[in-house]
Amino acid sequence: MAERVILADCCEDWIIEWGAFYPQGAAFACPECATAWTKTQAQGYRRADGREFKRAARGSGGASFPYLAAADGHEPNVDRCCAKILLGHGERMADGEFTCPVCSTRWRKRTERLHGMRVPVFAKDGLAEALAIQPGRWRPFLVSLLEWSPPRE
Ligand SMILES: [Zn+2]
Ligand SMILES: [Zn+2]
Repeated sequence: MAERVILADCCEDWIIEWGAFYPQGAAFACPECATAWTKTQAQGYRRADGREFKRAARGSGGASFPYLAAADGHEPNVDRCCAKILLGHGERMADGEFTCPVCSTRWRKRTERLHGMRVPVFAKDGLAEALAIQPGRWRPFLVSLLEWSPPRE
């Protein structure tokens, strides 16, 4: 069963950078989306909906990329490393294959016409629908092609 655990980028970024400074048992809220969180243990965090996450890291040889893993094993459909790279560099990537240096996921970038605009689109094996970068009110995020809508001026 491919249940999807959605973890907002704002919450993940906040906890990765600042979570270690909260004392165990502390309640706090994501300053961007106001989601309530509790620090349950040294590397563990529980969201208001009861979902538990724990800080983990990928990498070797001195390089380390931290992320929040779902404690029940249902991982997000896009790893934090890939999301950060696609959001930061995806628009400027050449069409073709790209392999994430952190988790080795192979992505295929192409450009599609959507709503009359040329939109960079990212696909990987195991993902039913390709993703596009949705400009958000505060920050861009990845959505499936069907959910994508043109940016409002
Ligand atoms: Zn948040
Ligand atoms: Zn990755």
